Amino acid sequence: MRDDELDLEAGRRLFARPARFLAAAGTQAELPQFTHDHPEIAFAGRSNCGKSSLVNGLVGQHMLARTSNTPGRTQHIVFFDQGGELVLVDMPGYGYAKAPKDAVRRWTELTYAYLRGRPTLRRVCLSLDIRRGVRDNDRAVMHALDQAAVPYQVVLTKADKLRQESAVTAAVREVEALQPKHIALHPVVRVTSAQTGRGMAELRADLADVARQ
Ligand code: GDP
Repeated sequence: MRDDELDLEAGRRLFARPARFLAAAGTQAELPQFTHDHPEIAFAGRSNCGKSSLVNGLVGQHMLARTSNTPGRTQHIVFFDQGGELVLVDMPGYGYAKAPKDAVRRWTELTYAYLRGRPTLRRVCLSLDIRRGVRDNDRAVMHALDQAAVPYQVVLTKADKLRQESAVTAAVREVEALQPKHIALHPVVRVTSAQTGRGMAELRADLADVARQ
């Protein structure tokens, strides 16, 4: 979908409704099976990439997703209802260098079990800090999503940290260049900032479009 075809109003309406906590899962056995079949959108990303701030910015509720100065602490997958139409899923961050090995193993088991076995999962928003670009562990997640045939969209975060718009464009191009190698990668890369609100309306419209499908 081209930007000029985006239904910004549909996105605004969907996210103007309150988000409501549904469930949290720390193990595979705890993954909820909902009786309704609302489409799910999951948010994934490296620890500290700005994922929680992105989710909070999207829904306009501070403190919905936990922002944390201690990366790698949150090990649960958290489910929220958004306006009775979507389920937003906050995945634990990955790639925290100091995380203990068994925490990494649990993270891997839980998240991969979720990503592979979820027919209602329509899209993963993969957040990347715009200054850091695509790292090895991001590529590993992208590869896993390609293999599981789960569509994912890259959302660049913290755009306000780059002074030059040319640097923003270069970061977008870097992701776009990966397209041929990643079959499940969505063609539209979003540039966002939780600080300034940049890109939030467009991403809300993208997700409202997913809710309609
Ligand atoms: P998470 O670990 O991926 O959930 O990341 P957080 O949302 O907790 O953010 C990590 C750090 O980056 C925090 O100090 C945030 O205040 C900061 N941060 C997140 N988003 C932005 C943004 O858009 N702009 C700026 N300048 N800082 C941000």
